[in-house]
Amino acid sequence: MSDALSYPRMELTVGDITQLKVEAIVNAANSSLLGGGGVDGAIHRAAGPRLLAHNRTLGGCPTGEARITPAFDLEARGVKHIIHTVGPVWGTDPRADGRERLGYRLEDNQLGQCYQACLELAAAHGARTLAFPGISTGVYGFPKERAAQIAVGHVRAFLGRSPVPETVVFCCFSEEDAEIYRRFLTPKDYSQSIQIGRKPS
Ligand code: ADP
Repeated sequence: MSDALSYPRMELTVGDITQLKVEAIVNAANSSLLGGGGVDGAIHRAAGPRLLAHNRTLGGCPTGEARITPAFDLEARGVKHIIHTVGPVWGTDPRADGRERLGYRLEDNQLGQCYQACLELAAAHGARTLAFPGISTGVYGFPKERAAQIAVGHVRAFLGRSPVPETVVFCCFSEEDAEIYRRFLTPKDYSQSIQIGRKPS
């Protein structure tokens, strides 16, 4: 493995994803792609009405997939792409009894597919920096610890085999959420370029 691939390339920050200076941000959207609450609402507000007009042409997006769009008003801040993905709603696997190990529930696989699809789109579009919110961990009710483990695992594996994105930022909306991610990120994962847990300026 080359040095470039083994260099620490994951970061953790606390704050509003629309304020980050990254080339691509991920939106935890719903399947209509026409906006909603939470991070989806914040991204639509920040990107402006052209995002909604553009997304009306896309015909929605199934759970576990992703769609890339321009960043519209966020372009002034250096954001080039918004990657919209539709996370699973926790509790939809009819076979689940609540005791499954990680990776054995339909929702685990769907959440992993979301991270994978976003990373692939970011790589295909040459996004050097990519920020993720905690997909599905708001109103969709995915347990936060389980979701963080899936997120970090998929990103770590992808970065191990792809030089792009160069850096992935996990953008937590609270210090409590960041604390959960810290359990799954080892010191080796962090770049020295950002202070862990720092609020974005
Ligand atoms: P979902 O429907 O996928 O659960 P939500 O938007 O309800 O999506 O929540 C996803 C995660 O995004 C939650 O952890 C929530 O705290 C967080 N979040 C909400 N607003 C923002 C924001 N502006 N920036 C970053 N994260 C946010």
